[in-house]
Amino acid sequence: QSQELSRVQIDYHAALQALVEDGTRMVCTGRMHTDRICRFESLCYSTEAEEFVFFHSNASVMLPNLGSRRFQPALLDLSSVEDHNTQYFNFVELPAAALKFMPKPVFVPDVALITNRFNPDNLMHVFHDDLLPIFYTMQQFPDLDLESRLFFMEGWSEGLHFDLYKLLSNKQPLLREQLKTLGRLLCFTKSYIGLSKVTTWYQYGFVQPQGPKANILVSGNEIRHFTKFMMEKLNISLEESASEEYIVVFSRTINRLILNEAELILALAQEFQMKTITVSIEDHSFSHIVRLISNASMLVSMHGAQLVMSLFLPRGATVVELFPYAINPEHYTPYKTLSTLPGMDLQYIAWQNTDRENTVTFPDRPWDQGGIAHLDKAEQERIIKSKEVPRHLCCRNPEWLFRVYQDTKVDIPSLIQVIRQTVKSKPGPKKQKWTSGLYPGKVRDAKCQASVQGTSEAKLSVSWQIPWNLKYLKVREVKYEVWIQEQGENTYMPYILSHQNHTFSENIKPFTIYLVWIRCIFNKNLLGPFADVLLCST
Ligand code: UDP
Repeated sequence: QSQELSRVQIDYHAALQALVEDGTRMVCTGRMHTDRICRFESLCYSTEAEEFVFFHSNASVMLPNLGSRRFQPALLDLSSVEDHNTQYFNFVELPAAALKFMPKPVFVPDVALITNRFNPDNLMHVFHDDLLPIFYTMQQFPDLDLESRLFFMEGWSEGLHFDLYKLLSNKQPLLREQLKTLGRLLCFTKSYIGLSKVTTWYQYGFVQPQGPKANILVSGNEIRHFTKFMMEKLNISLEESASEEYIVVFSRTINRLILNEAELILALAQEFQMKTITVSIEDHSFSHIVRLISNASMLVSMHGAQLVMSLFLPRGATVVELFPYAINPEHYTPYKTLSTLPGMDLQYIAWQNTDRENTVTFPDRPWDQGGIAHLDKAEQERIIKSKEVPRHLCCRNPEWLFRVYQDTKVDIPSLIQVIRQTVKSKPGPKKQKWTSGLYPGKVRDAKCQASVQGTSEAKLSVSWQIPWNLKYLKVREVKYEVWIQEQGENTYMPYILSHQNHTFSENIKPFTIYLVWIRCIFNKNLLGPFADVLLCST
């Protein structure tokens, strides 16, 4: 690799002089360490100390300048997993003058994206924690283009899925270990550190039991934009043609097996009158699997990381996730959450083995494959008797590992029944009309007029114009919501109206000030913003 970097010509003396005179410059986005991404010029890394180095000079810049808050607990998260204490980034500081006494810097000319991969041997983690966040971090900063270079600092070797990481840029990603071969002091000309978390949808249960993230910000369109990019890099074209429909069974061959897989495949083929194909990570190339899944009508698989490949399913397809005995599907929903993201347009079905007869346990395996022989006898017995794994934190709960690594004989009739509850005719891509969820703008020119009849009765006539964007849209149903609030009161009277004006007389008092709030609603659930509040005096 050292030849590779030096092949790019840079003016070494000019670069060194700039570093000594200007020092390091850093400007970051984000208010907290959990949402921060920083852009650096002339950030260095000592491969001996395994530390990043910020060089101070009169021209250096550090924004935000947090003082010692930089260590409470860190400047930023290096991976997309929120606030994980093994993933913190910081640098040490030195005066630029110290460079005189240090190893000669080796300059990295490529624009660098420096991050941690979270768990590169697990496909769910690869896509969810790394590939999607890297892709969208690169979209966020224009100089992180295909000519930029990824640096993975978590310290792992390439891992099982390194080929996927290579698709994200034209340059070979470099690992922490490899940096040593480049030199003792590396200086990144331009670098970005941190990862966007905007696409992640799941939290793995480090501080509370696992589940969907509280504030999911990604939808199907952005996921498909990413999968389209990956498929182009893999030279896979999306077949638009109405070729034969089929079902894919994604099998595991090492553990968490489906014991009657042949019977299952036959039953699916018969029930849905479709060809049914098996794939596994062990037996098929990644691009073969993507090619098959991207045209499949249904994907059936045991709970497990391989199910993240539902990312590549066409819209309208069905995901069937099988859960071993005592594993409550509602408690483990990374793939359900993915399938049901807004705009993913996938149907999701969970099936659970509820029959103890149909499960095979492995109490004598090592603990990380679900063995429980190392536990005391009473605890072993409790686990074996239990009908459901109680909610737990990640990652070493022995009862969870024991149950999730069971093999399962799938009860075919009960599986077909749950699929049939959701999939009435043929599963698979329906030529759906693109009913996009576009929201109304504010209503315009809202006005009110009051009239008083006698001392106890009054009327309030309110009118407004349609939102500006409505005239360019075809909307099935347009309604307006009006809230009438007496000034100083906490409560309000809500109304749903079909027209652009209304005269309110119920509960309207004379000589009173009312606040009137109006918003537009498309198709029952697309709520627009409220227009500026109207002040109406009767
Ligand atoms: N894996 C697989 N076949 C197997 C067992 C595991 O393809 O028989 C893959 C799995 O999809 C994941 C990785 O190996 O990418 C690690 O699997 P593990 O059981 O540790 O994680 P899980 O699937 O439960 O997330």
